[in-house]
Amino acid sequence: MGYEYAVSACLCGKNVRYDGKSKVLSKWKELYDQGKVLLICPEVQGGLSIPREPSEMVGDKIMSRIGVDVTHNFTSGAQEALRMIQEHPSIHTIILKENSPSCGLHYVYDGTFSGTKIEGMGVFARVAIEHGYKVYNEVEAEDIVIG
Ligand code: SF4
Repeated sequence: MGYEYAVSACLCGKNVRYDGKSKVLSKWKELYDQGKVLLICPEVQGGLSIPREPSEMVGDKIMSRIGVDVTHNFTSGAQEALRMIQEHPSIHTIILKENSPSCGLHYVYDGTFSGTKIEGMGVFARVAIEHGYKVYNEVEAEDIVIG
């Protein structure tokens, strides 16, 4: 036995988002409560506070809404989340919250802080895929059959 999934902590009801809230989905909260989920939050693991200014991808950097370059927080947090997952060889699948500059899998915000989404991938999502994990966003993950 061991963890079966690593999941964005905000999907499991943890209030780790920039606004101090979560985006809980009952499926993942229940699996977390059953001990099957390792929680990750690359932004908090990279040293950012709760709450925090929202950040968006601007070119190859991550900038906060007030213009602070937080790229190093995102890259170090992604490495820390990866390291934590790699300690659990039973984990092959990672479920991530779409649209986040860390966890977004297919879409991110466009860097103008206007709520506009563009195709793109968050810092941690890219790292997870590069290391061979099966990665799904929360919508795709609804179809995952729990064994
Ligand atoms: Fe959720 Fe990921 Fe953002 Fe943390 S970094 S709040 S886990 S989307």
